[in-house]
Amino acid sequence: MIRNVAILGATGSIGTQTLDILARYPDRFSACCLCARSDAEGLFPACCLCARSDAEGLFQLARTFRPRTCGLVVEPKEIPDDLRGIEWFFGEDSASRALAVSGADDALCAVVGIAGLDAVLTALDTCERVLLANKEALVTGGHLVTEKAKRLHRALLPVDSEHSAIYQCLQAARGNVPSRLILTCSGGALREFPREQLANATVSDVLKHPTWRMGSKITVDCATLMNKGLEVIEAYHLFGLPEEKIEVVIHPQSVIHSMVEFADGAVLAQLGAPDMRVPIGYALGEPDRLAFGGERLDFTRMGALTFASPDTERFPCLAYAREALRLGGSAPVVLNGANEEAVAAFLRGEAKFGQIPLIVRYALDHAELKPISCAQEVYEADARARLLARACLRHL
Ligand code: MG
Repeated sequence: MIRNVAILGATGSIGTQTLDILARYPDRFSACCLCARSDAEGLFPACCLCARSDAEGLFQLARTFRPRTCGLVVEPKEIPDDLRGIEWFFGEDSASRALAVSGADDALCAVVGIAGLDAVLTALDTCERVLLANKEALVTGGHLVTEKAKRLHRALLPVDSEHSAIYQCLQAARGNVPSRLILTCSGGALREFPREQLANATVSDVLKHPTWRMGSKITVDCATLMNKGLEVIEAYHLFGLPEEKIEVVIHPQSVIHSMVEFADGAVLAQLGAPDMRVPIGYALGEPDRLAFGGERLDFTRMGALTFASPDTERFPCLAYAREALRLGGSAPVVLNGANEEAVAAFLRGEAKFGQIPLIVRYALDHAELKPISCAQEVYEADARARLLARACLRHL
């Protein structure tokens, strides 16, 4: 049986690496639906890996993979003649409409930012399995997503490398409940940046991630440690452990992708070369492991593996994320919305690196926190947080 896979966010870093795996297993998978924003000037400037606009990128992918349906948020001037056999959808809801008629068994959600929440909630309506590469959906609407998945008997599979590592360790744990989750963190591009220069770090300083190749939004989040804060919230929703049992450890070599501790003190870890195709392939193929010819670890050459506590004085966003998780309700939505605004402003050259945590702090301090019971309340809290972030940015 061939599984039909929809990819939401097909032209980004995760989307193209997913297609790389699918292309190696034509007898197991078919890419039935490809969606992208097509918005080179969109929320986040084009990432460092894909220079083309999303529309052109999606045309190329559609030529290679021949999906049944394609979705583009921004309608292009025209669809090339050779791609008119594919059913095309345009507009803000293009992904949900393209997905609904694609016959997808699985949906991989790799949309950037809070836009992923709608993609994930929509995918849960129609697909047996939702592969989560977007963490903002769980950060902002975690209870909505996990409750919907449970109600409709859908599988939620983590694609984030740390959460995939924990998931893999838990599958080896034979039902034993973990006493602690240990998320590893590379420390980002600015881990050793001189303290006095940190506030004025440039976009090019920040986009030089030491170990992982990723899109620009997440690479900035890695440098502020907000990414790890969002991942603590993501782990809370995926694995159901309280915030104080989710630890973060700086591990610059990115060889151990995360760890799980049990009642007897034993720790299981998942190791490997830093390559997102491992967690993507595991989510697609589990319990099978899909070979893709990636780099192997050479233990005799890798040198020392080191570990340290995160420095939340230099990088306060991790502490803000924990605070938002403890506060609950709309606090994580406020954290995320303010961060998305701050990161977009930084990438446009309108905010300094050091202002990102100040903007997030301002929004958390000034937002009216409310309970969240539906997606509409998430979007309203998100909109208010963005207004606060923009107000803060004007006064900085
Ligand atoms: Mg991660």
